[in-house]
Amino acid sequence: MAGDYYETLGVSRDATPDEIKRAYRRLARKYHPDVNKEPGAEDLFKEVNRANEVLSNPETRARYDRFGEQGVSGAGAGAPDFGDMGGFADIFETIFSGFGGGMGTGASPRQRSGPVRGDDLRLDLKLGFREAVFGGEKEIRIPHLENCQTCNGSGAKPGTGSKTCQTCSGTGQIRRSTRTPFGSFAQVSVCPTCNGDGQVIEEKCESCGGAGRKQETKKLKITIPAGVDNGTRLRVAREGDAGLRGGTSGDLYVYLFVEEDKEFYRDGVNILSEISISYLQAILGCRLEVNTVDGPVETTIPAGTQPNTELKLEGHGVPRLGNAVSRGDHLLTVQVEIPTRINAEERELLEQLAKIKGKSIGKGGIEGFLGKMFGG
Ligand SMILES: [Zn+2]
Ligand SMILES: [Zn+2]
Repeated sequence: MAGDYYETLGVSRDATPDEIKRAYRRLARKYHPDVNKEPGAEDLFKEVNRANEVLSNPETRARYDRFGEQGVSGAGAGAPDFGDMGGFADIFETIFSGFGGGMGTGASPRQRSGPVRGDDLRLDLKLGFREAVFGGEKEIRIPHLENCQTCNGSGAKPGTGSKTCQTCSGTGQIRRSTRTPFGSFAQVSVCPTCNGDGQVIEEKCESCGGAGRKQETKKLKITIPAGVDNGTRLRVAREGDAGLRGGTSGDLYVYLFVEEDKEFYRDGVNILSEISISYLQAILGCRLEVNTVDGPVETTIPAGTQPNTELKLEGHGVPRLGNAVSRGDHLLTVQVEIPTRINAEERELLEQLAKIKGKSIGKGGIEGFLGKMFGG
């Protein structure tokens, strides 16, 4: 289980938001991986960040106070992480710092005897146009490392223990000195036998081969909130890789990609589409059904509608993320079709109309226009 977040930040349970902020800043500076190369600093840095993430938000803090860790993770699996949506910028940082475990930090050895938080994972998920608009449940399959049930994550065969590593005598690091014309240099590196643990297990767990964790594909139901869009990222707490030696699991970040629709185009919270009406409908006005994401909606095309007029169907757009009762609009662009061919009867009627119009607005006006349009 993770330590107490208040203890992590070194503040009392009734600390003010300001005290929490100050404690966080001080500790984040102290343990930042760029500054602090001491063993374990990076994990402390992550713990401090996690504690701040929970305690700096009044809502998650209240939940944590009432339900503890459960209130802000396990039970909340699939709960969207609205806090850091938007751009991909901060996201890459999170993802790549999460993968840092294996990258190491050059020659400096890392003592790895304490708990290590599992890696964060990324999963790209494609959503249909309407799924993104209305949200819903989605089943995903996520390959991640899970704690081995057989050995409880220790990597040791049940009933056996671990012993001091002989290669490094338990220090987790080995020194080699290199002689050069400029003197002798000691090079320190992580012990390859125990991987820096200082301990090796006597007999490996057969189920996981001594790793303590196993790659498993887990089926997971996640809730997609209404109104998500391309690039929205959802955090599923604790569904990344399992931690090591009792460390907490990493988080799973689900990146959403929304498929295009044949009929609708999305612009933020608004949905755009086009309809075509006849020139007569445009001139005389009409009522007709138009498709929206809510199904057909009857709407009025006012008399005298011009080509490319934009009509607004209020409230038929995309629900606002995090406030689904408020929705954008459906914007309908009206195209007016001018027929390329007309029959004799239509032509006669239009010519009559042109004559009448010609008298009232001056000869040549409409008649000339229609002649050009339909003549030949
Ligand atoms: Zn095992
Ligand atoms: Zn060793």
